[in-house]
Amino acid sequence: MKQYNYELTCPQDAGKALEEVYAYTQGQQYKSILFHLFTIKFDSEKINEVQKMILDVFPDAYIAGTSSNGDICDGHLAEYGMVMSASVFDSTDIDVSLLECEPGNEPEIGRKICEIIDSSENIKAAEILITLKSINSNDILREAEKCRKDVKIFGGGSAGFNIDMTDTRVVAGDKLSDKGVALVTYSGNDFYIDIHHAIGWKALGKDLTVTKIEDKRLYELDNIPAGQIYSKYLDIQPDENFFKNMLEFPLMSRQHGYEVLRLPFSCRMEDNSILLAAAVKKGSTVNLSYGDPDVIRTDVNALVEKTKNFAPQAVFLYSCGVRRLYWKYLINKETGPFSLIAPVSGFYSSGEIMRMDDYIIEHHVTLIAIGMREGGEAEAQPTGIGDKAIAMTEEQKMHGQLSMVRRLANFINVTSKELIQANEELQRMADTDALTGMYNRRMLDKLIRTGLDHVKKFDVKVVIGIIDIDDFKEVNDTYGHAMGDEVLRVVTRIIQNEIDKIDGAICGRYGGEEFLFLIPHLSLDEAIEKVEKIRAEVEETSFEDVGHKTISIGMSQYHKGDNIEQFFEHADSALYEAKGSGKNKICVCK
Ligand code: GH3
Ligand code: MG
Ligand code: MG
Repeated sequence: MKQYNYELTCPQDAGKALEEVYAYTQGQQYKSILFHLFTIKFDSEKINEVQKMILDVFPDAYIAGTSSNGDICDGHLAEYGMVMSASVFDSTDIDVSLLECEPGNEPEIGRKICEIIDSSENIKAAEILITLKSINSNDILREAEKCRKDVKIFGGGSAGFNIDMTDTRVVAGDKLSDKGVALVTYSGNDFYIDIHHAIGWKALGKDLTVTKIEDKRLYELDNIPAGQIYSKYLDIQPDENFFKNMLEFPLMSRQHGYEVLRLPFSCRMEDNSILLAAAVKKGSTVNLSYGDPDVIRTDVNALVEKTKNFAPQAVFLYSCGVRRLYWKYLINKETGPFSLIAPVSGFYSSGEIMRMDDYIIEHHVTLIAIGMREGGEAEAQPTGIGDKAIAMTEEQKMHGQLSMVRRLANFINVTSKELIQANEELQRMADTDALTGMYNRRMLDKLIRTGLDHVKKFDVKVVIGIIDIDDFKEVNDTYGHAMGDEVLRVVTRIIQNEIDKIDGAICGRYGGEEFLFLIPHLSLDEAIEKVEKIRAEVEETSFEDVGHKTISIGMSQYHKGDNIEQFFEHADSALYEAKGSGKNKICVCK
C-alpha cells in the first residue's frame, strides 16, 4: 500500500493533491483507494466540496472521515483546515458504510456493524468512526464486539473545534452524518494491521469505590461527593479552572483488566458531582491518576518502538483532544517520531476506540497507533524492543534520573499501600483472639447480630452452639498454664476445621475455654451430625503429656420471635445439661 497525506487549508487545495495521487495510480495496478478526511475547521459545505472533488477524480474511491479537535498530517498537528489522506491498496478490499443512528437505536446499529463484519470475506480489520455526543456509544460497542473475534477493531469519536463536541459529524462516501457511525472494513489475505496504545498517565494513591453514579454523572466515591475527593486530595476546587486542572489528574478505571481513563469535564458546585466523559460502573474501583511529561513520553516512546517493529507502510494516529491541550505547543513531540516510520495521518478525537481481547474499549486521554501494511511476514517479527523499551527522554539523559514527580508519586503509592496494610492488620487484631486466631467475642457478637437480622428477614434456619472443654482447670493445675494454652490451640484447630466445611457457618472463642458457633441453613439434626465430628475428634486426640480431653456441647435452634439473649440462653442451658449429665456429649434445647 501507498499513502499520501495532505493538509488542506481550503477545499481547492484538494485539486493539486488529487493530481499527485492520480499520477501515482496511473502507473500502478491497484485494488482499492480509500480517502480519510479529518477536519477541525471545514463545515459541511466544505467537506462536501472535497468529497465531490475526490469522486470526480476517483469515482470508485471510498471515503471515510470525521470532524476533529485537530488533525495529524505526517506527524504534526494541522489545525487550520482538513487533512486528506489517500491510501492506495494493491490487494486489499475496502468498504465504507454509513450507519445513521437515532438515539435509542444504538443496539441495532451495533448488531448491523456485527453483521457487516461477519459477512465480509477475508476481513482483517474494521474502523469505527462515531459521533459520540449525539448517541450512546457504549450500547453500540457492546453489540458490535460480538462479531468475529479475529477481526481487529479501531477508531475514534468525532470531536469538534470546541472540547464540548458541538457540531460533530462523520463522513462516509458522499454523505455526512451528525448521528451515526462510518464503518470501514479492510479485507484481504495480504493485509496486515497492528494496533497498540499508550496512555502515560499513572494511578495515584488508594483505591476509590464508585458508590453513586447516574449515566456519566459521578456523584460519590467512597460515599464522599466526587468533587470533594478532588478538593481534599489535590486541592482542585469546583471553579472555572476545574477542567484545566483535570487534564493532569483524570480518573483511572479498569475495564476487563485494562486501564482506561475517564476525564471529568466539570464539577457542579451545588452537589459536588462530576460530569465524566464516559460512564464507569457502580461498585467498580477507580483511582486518581497523574500525568507527568517524562512518564508519558516514556510510554509513547515504547509505542513508537512497537509500531516500528511492525514495519508498517502507513500509520494512523487516533489521539485524544485532551493530549493536545495537555502538551500545548509541544504536541508534535508526541506524534512526530511516528513519521520517521511511515506516512502518518490521524486526528484528535473525543474517545479512542480499540478492541482489546474480545472487547471494544472506548478510551480517553489515550494515543492509539494503527500500523498497516500489505505483504511481508504473516506476523511482524517481535524484536522485544517495544515492550522493554524504556526509552530515555532527553531530560533523563541529561540528568540521569527519573523525574521528581514520578518519585513522589511512587512515594504516595507505597505509603498508601503500607497504610492500608497497617489498617487491615489493626482490624484483624481488633476482631480476633490473640491466642487462637479465632474471632473474638466482640466480633462474634457483631456477626451474630447481623446474622440474626438476615435470619429474621429471610426466614432461614439457624442453629447456635456453645462448646466448653471438660475439666480444663485440671490441665492448668497439673501441667501449667502454657500446656493449657496448647490444648486450647489444638481444640481451636479441630473446631475451626470442621466449621469451615459447613457453608456459611462461623465460630469463635467466646471466652476462657468456651467456643461459640452459628450454623445457618441446616436443621438441628443436620447440624448435630456435623458437630458430633468435632466432639469425636477431640475425644480421639491425644494431647502431648496431657493425654485425652473431652468437650461438652449445648445446641439450640432459633425460634421465630426469640431475641438474641433468649437464643443464647437456650444453648447455655443445653450445655448445663450436658455438664450435669456426665460431660463429653451434645445436648440440645429444642
Ligand atoms: P467444666 O468441665 O465444668 O467446664 O470444668 P472446667 O475446669 O473446664 O471449668 P472452669 O470454669 O472451672 O475452669 C475453666 C478454666 O479455664 C479456668 C481458667 O483459668 C482457664 N482458662 C481460661 N482462659 C484460659 C487461657 O487462655 N489459657 C489457659 N491456660 N487457661 C485458661
Ligand atoms: Mg467454662
Ligand atoms: Mg470447662
